[in-house]
Amino acid sequence: MKIVFHPDFLPSYIYDPAASAGRLDYALRELQQRYPVIIPEPCLEEDVLRVHSLNHINYVKSYHELYPIALLAAGSSIQAAQIALQGEFSFALCRPPGHHASPTSCWGFCYFNNIAIAVQSLIHNKFIENALIIDFDLHFGDGTSNFYSLIPQVDYYFIRGTSPPAFIKNLTTFLEGKKTDIIAVSAGFDRHHNDWGRCLKNEDYYHIGELLGAFAQKHARGRLFSILEGGYNPQALGEGIISFLGGLESSIKLEQTGK
Ligand SMILES: [Zn+2]
Repeated sequence: MKIVFHPDFLPSYIYDPAASAGRLDYALRELQQRYPVIIPEPCLEEDVLRVHSLNHINYVKSYHELYPIALLAAGSSIQAAQIALQGEFSFALCRPPGHHASPTSCWGFCYFNNIAIAVQSLIHNKFIENALIIDFDLHFGDGTSNFYSLIPQVDYYFIRGTSPPAFIKNLTTFLEGKKTDIIAVSAGFDRHHNDWGRCLKNEDYYHIGELLGAFAQKHARGRLFSILEGGYNPQALGEGIISFLGGLESSIKLEQTGK
């Protein structure tokens, strides 16, 4: 497991809940104690252009403090995807989030669609032919869904469910019989029981990690990367991330002991 993180993600860059001061501090402290941290480069405009119109890029550019950090978040996603390509799991602790960013518009604290930019970079470079994007944020990733609605090689799945058992059952059912070149996870933690969604507990995030990790080992060539989306209670966010990554890690250990 590797964490992709840049210190420039810490300061607030705009006025919204995803950009709030101190949001990532708890998560970073916990992650640094457990995993190696890789510092990403910003992505290039050509990477963004695979997903967004030039007009949209110019709109984001007009917010001077936002544009460099949006490029860095997309760059951290590409970096996380490249780590996964080598067969190691990864998590990008980045912001702004991306799943509400469509090709020509955005909302919901998102500007560039980080996960789509990362997946398109792998497809463009012929590293993969197809991908599965799983989104467990509280909110439907309309931006990701819009972008991939006409691209059959990439499947976007938003997990629904009003209780933890229903949520996990829906994920399990969806994964049955699937196979993919890589699994990309839009990891939002605003469904945490101590966040807006008041639903999933830490053990549920662990279980989701176990399921996705085991799926990646068996049906996605051992490749999985995850990118932060929502999550607005700093402590719940940190605990959710640690639980999810712990579940992912446990699936690797199970594979190694042959169970
Ligand atoms: Zn959300």
